[in-house]
Amino acid sequence: MSERILGIDVGRYWPPKRIDDDEFWAETETTLGAVYTPDAGFVNDPQLAAQNLAAAARAHGAEFRFHTSVRGIERAHGRVTAVTLADGSRIPCGVVVNAAGPWSTRINELASVGSDFTVGCRPLRQEVAHVAAPAGFGADNRAGICVADMDLGIYLRGEAGGGLLVGGTEPECDPLQWVDDPDAVTAHPTTAVFEAQVTRAARRLPALEIPNRARGVVGVYDVADDWTPIYDRTELDGFYVAMGTSGNQFKNAPVVGKFLAAIIEQTENGVDHDERPVRFVGEHTGLAIDLSAFSRKRPRGAENSGTVLG
Ligand SMILES: Cc1cc2nc3c(=O)[nH]c(=O)nc-3n(C[C@H](O)[C@H](O)[C@H](O)COP(=O)(O)OP(=O)(O)OC[C@H]3O[C@@H](n4cnc5c(N)ncnc54)[C@H](O)[C@@H]3O)c2cc1C
Repeated sequence: MSERILGIDVGRYWPPKRIDDDEFWAETETTLGAVYTPDAGFVNDPQLAAQNLAAAARAHGAEFRFHTSVRGIERAHGRVTAVTLADGSRIPCGVVVNAAGPWSTRINELASVGSDFTVGCRPLRQEVAHVAAPAGFGADNRAGICVADMDLGIYLRGEAGGGLLVGGTEPECDPLQWVDDPDAVTAHPTTAVFEAQVTRAARRLPALEIPNRARGVVGVYDVADDWTPIYDRTELDGFYVAMGTSGNQFKNAPVVGKFLAAIIEQTENGVDHDERPVRFVGEHTGLAIDLSAFSRKRPRGAENSGTVLG
């Protein structure tokens, strides 16, 4: 049995395995190191955070149109001119940003763009298990740490109130659940995925109990071929994309908005972002980010993990 620190088994079990593989249960003699970032954090209520972002957008003049959907993108002379909605209304506009998440490729099809993309996006069904955290995981009613664990093929984080979320990092032994239609995805977690995720988590947190009933959330990632988002213009003037968010861009939403604003401002003022990529300077760090990293025409990125962990 490998050493346990603060209730964490630090054994090295790589590569991740299916839990019906006898090798999954093998003991290990080797241990892992880790990087600990005590000043990191997370959004503990994404729905409230989204409402807050919407309220902030309204304060800046944004208007929301709920209970209808985009049905068409109109163009004239190579430029977007309007968005049409299912309720029959038409919104004339000079600039459109496709931020439709797992539906983004469909919206591109409505706009007839995508012919020059080197990177495609596909919807991927995902489950995140929800269980009770082991005793002592979050001291003083705090949520406890987040763990990104490629070794076992999971990530986990505590919640205030004693819960624990466990997701997967797309290990090779697990089939990926690509879907054609995000609207057809069933909202119920499956026993197979729940047991795999929570049993792997229990390898790392040996005091974790594995309930008999699957509980958690089901969602759909919009996954880019190289798991890096596409924040860019398109071949249709005035039509921009913020897509391929690959399960990890919620926390980046505020800066992504600024990336898009910078790309749109420069492109609409005649700068060719394909030839002279916009450089965005972070207002807090002062560091420049070359936004060609998110180009629709980039060579497929090979420098990330090819998983939700980026
Ligand atoms: C299970 C799961 C866990 C995740 N965990 C994390 C995490 O821990 N951290 C993190 O940073 N990110 C996480 N993400 C990723 C994060 O949710 C996405 O990056 C983020 O939601 C992308 O925001 P968005 O506004 O671009 O798209 P979405 O949030 O997908 O919103 C797209 C919107 O477009 C609407 N839409 C689609 N088609 C149409 C149409 N024709 N007309 C009108 N509206 C339309 C949809 O209804 C939807 O409201 C997770 C995602 C999932 C699925």
